[in-house]
Amino acid sequence: MDDSLTQLLRQIPAMNKILDNSIWDTYNKKRVKKSAEFYLATLKADILSQKIVRIPSLESILHNILSHYQASQQNSLIPLINATGILLHTNLGRSPLGKDIVDDVNTVLTSYNNLEFNLQEGIRGERYTLVKEVFKSLLNSEHIDVLIVNNNASAVFLVLNTFAQNKEVIISRGELVEIGGSFRIPEVMRHAGAILKEVGTTNKTHLKDYVSGISPQTAIIAKIHQSNYCLQGFVQEVSIQELITLAKEYSLLDYYDIGSGLLYSPKALKGLHSEPIIQDIVALNPSLLSFSGDKLLGGPQAGIIVGQEQYIHTLKQNQLLRMLRVDKITLSILEATLQAYLQEDYQKIPILAMLECSLEELRKKAEGMLRNLPKHFWGKIIKSSGFVGGGSLPQVEIPSYAIALSCAKWDIEQLKEELRKQGVIVRITQKQLLLDMRTLLKDDEEKIIKILYYLAEQ
Ligand SMILES: *Cc1c(COP(=O)(O)O)cnc(C)c1O
Repeated sequence: MDDSLTQLLRQIPAMNKILDNSIWDTYNKKRVKKSAEFYLATLKADILSQKIVRIPSLESILHNILSHYQASQQNSLIPLINATGILLHTNLGRSPLGKDIVDDVNTVLTSYNNLEFNLQEGIRGERYTLVKEVFKSLLNSEHIDVLIVNNNASAVFLVLNTFAQNKEVIISRGELVEIGGSFRIPEVMRHAGAILKEVGTTNKTHLKDYVSGISPQTAIIAKIHQSNYCLQGFVQEVSIQELITLAKEYSLLDYYDIGSGLLYSPKALKGLHSEPIIQDIVALNPSLLSFSGDKLLGGPQAGIIVGQEQYIHTLKQNQLLRMLRVDKITLSILEATLQAYLQEDYQKIPILAMLECSLEELRKKAEGMLRNLPKHFWGKIIKSSGFVGGGSLPQVEIPSYAIALSCAKWDIEQLKEELRKQGVIVRITQKQLLLDMRTLLKDDEEKIIKILYYLAEQ
């Protein structure tokens, strides 16, 4: 090795010397040592690769170790501001939960509770019955039962595995969807042990295609919502109503994976979509259907299976359920969310509050922010389009207002990066950096303004 490198390496302060410093008196020594080890290893690597040619001062070394120590004490899951206008961003945690809803369940989560205890009879209860009654009211049906699992992907898996192992499931070729990379219907089927029976063509599937697909091996006629894409032009699909009727006629099970699932159609979506409303489908008396808890429903991550009592009962017998079951956090937040629906208190559910917000209100938000921009930041209010995202309603552009932001110090790509480092996620559209008002939560405007002031001073 080069003599000068060896010299430098020798000058690295010894661990003892670092740890003996009085600045660590009030810190956890074991963890300080970990941070110091990490820092010294980096320093050594930098010397060997000749990235640095001088050993930093002891003060500087201690300061760096302290920064590493403090960073390691912080949670890695941190809040962000979503100014993209995309409501359900899978990378940003899908639907944010309502503060009031989380407050409501605080006491139950920090106490013992009746998760599996039947208080009336003093015997063991069942966790899934907790949300059953509220679902019955919400879906206007006395004859349904529900089962909550970890997410909608597990719902699909559980249904197929329970009813179609080594049997055939009929699906239209127009519905063999891939959602978010890792969830592909044909793969999920294979893993669940079901045999995929494709019918129809990519653009058109007729009822007669389903009929000719039925064989003694058929267990399920399934419909999968084309969540994240749409077919246009020369297209035809068979409605769930017709499939339910067909399944009954042949004594088969019908199953509809609705994907997002709307329990209520908010203002901003009126007239923009043909997304099925869950109550309408339940009214058709389907065998089973499922949807996500954290897409348009606006609740916690969950897979919600709704259907006829006998089928839900069979699902509950599957050992797999033990692996897919949800805990008190999910169930309590889900129930509080559903209560908000029952009381038509949509403002409690952030995703719905965003979709209830009028253009006028969004414009006012933008005007308010514009008045408070720091020096050398410029903004212009423009009409923009938001999206539902999270694999829902791809063709629906939700009208919104945005501030097209620029500044003296950076070009918009750099500004986007600086904002991201401060936890503000924005999008650039047609060479404009947009702060979309639709997806801002309460107090986000003030937080953004504070961040802009901070950036202005850097
Ligand atoms: C989103 C989606 C899923 C997966 O749901 P998760 O809750 O993300 O597991 C499955 N099927 C369809 C049609 C979807 O849109």
